[in-house]
Amino acid sequence: MKNTLLGKTLEELQGICLDLKLPKFAGKQIADWIYLKGVSDINSMTNLSLNARQTLSENFEVGLIPPVEEHHSDDGTSKYLYKYHDNVFVETVMIPDKSRVTLCVSTQVGCKMGCEFCATGKQGFNRNLNAGEIINLVRTLPEFEDLNNIVYMGMGEPFDNYKEVVKSIEILTSDWGFAMSPRRITVSTSGIIPQMIDFIYETQCHLAISMHNPFHKERQEIMPIEKKYPIEDVCDEIRKHNWYGQRRVSFEYIVFKGKNNTYDHAKEISYLLRGIETRVNLIRYHSTPDTALEGASDEEIQRFQEELEGFGLITTIRASKGEDILAACGLLSTKKIMEENRE
Ligand code: SF4
Repeated sequence: MKNTLLGKTLEELQGICLDLKLPKFAGKQIADWIYLKGVSDINSMTNLSLNARQTLSENFEVGLIPPVEEHHSDDGTSKYLYKYHDNVFVETVMIPDKSRVTLCVSTQVGCKMGCEFCATGKQGFNRNLNAGEIINLVRTLPEFEDLNNIVYMGMGEPFDNYKEVVKSIEILTSDWGFAMSPRRITVSTSGIIPQMIDFIYETQCHLAISMHNPFHKERQEIMPIEKKYPIEDVCDEIRKHNWYGQRRVSFEYIVFKGKNNTYDHAKEISYLLRGIETRVNLIRYHSTPDTALEGASDEEIQRFQEELEGFGLITTIRASKGEDILAACGLLSTKKIMEENRE
C-alpha cells in the first residue's frame, strides 16, 4: 500500500516535494487539488509537470476512499459506511437541519472507553484512524458542498486519538485546507482531562462533554472513565476557562428510563455546572443491543428539562433523527461486523 497524500499538512506536503526533488511550491498546488478540488488521482493535478506527477505517483496515492454503503432515512439523515484497507468498518452520519448540514465523524475503529450504553464501546478497541482517514470521511461525503458543520461524535473517543484529531482539525480550518471556521466544529469527549486541557489551548473549536449522570457512583456504572477522571474534576477544569465569547462548551445528557432524571440529578447537575456559561443537551436514547438501559419517554424528558430549567440551566432536547437507519454511534458498523462474522 502506498502512502497517502490525504491527511498531510501543507508543511508535510512541501517536505514531500523537497524529498522528491520537486519545487516546494508544488506542495501548495497538491493541497489545492486534494482538499479544495477533491481529485482522487494524481494524474488529474494538471498544473504539476508530467515528471512531477510521475514521481509523485511512484511513491504516493491520493487516498480518497468512497463509502461502501449508504442508508437514507425518511427524515433526511444519511448514514455512510466505509471499509478501510485492513477490512475495518467506519461510519459517519449526515444530518440536515434547515440551512445547516452537519456531519458526525468517527475517530477510532471501536473504542476503549466501554460506555455501557454505546454500541461502539461494546465492539472493544481495534485501532485509531489517522488524520487522512478522518479527512476522507469529510471529503467523500456526497453532500460535501453543502456541509457547514462537523461534530466529532461518531465512533471512538477523540481525545484518545488526540494527535490525529488535532491534525485533522488543522486541515479542516487552514486556508490551504478546507478553510472552515473552528466555530463550525465541535469535539465531544467523555472527559479525558489532560487532552481536554490541551485542546482548549491548542484549538478554537467548540467542546461537548458527555455527562449522562452527575453522581460519581452512578456515572461509573455506565462510564468507566469516571473512575479515572470524575465528572466533578472535568467541570472544575472547564470552570477555569472563558466560555463567554463565541466559543461554546456544552454538556450532553442521554436520558435513561428510571436512571438519571430525578429532581436530585437535576440539582446535582446545576451544582456541577455552577459558574459555567453552558447548555445541557438532553438526548433521546436509541436502544443498542446487549444493554438493559432503555430510553426515557418524551414526557419524562420534558419533565426533566423543566427540573433543570427550574435550577436556571439552559437546555435543549435534541431532535431524534435517523433512528430507522441506526444513526446512533457505532450501530451500523456493529451490524456489519456481525454480518461478516456470520459469513
Ligand atoms: S460513547 Fe463515545 S467514549 Fe463511550 S464507548 Fe461510545 S464511542 Fe467510546
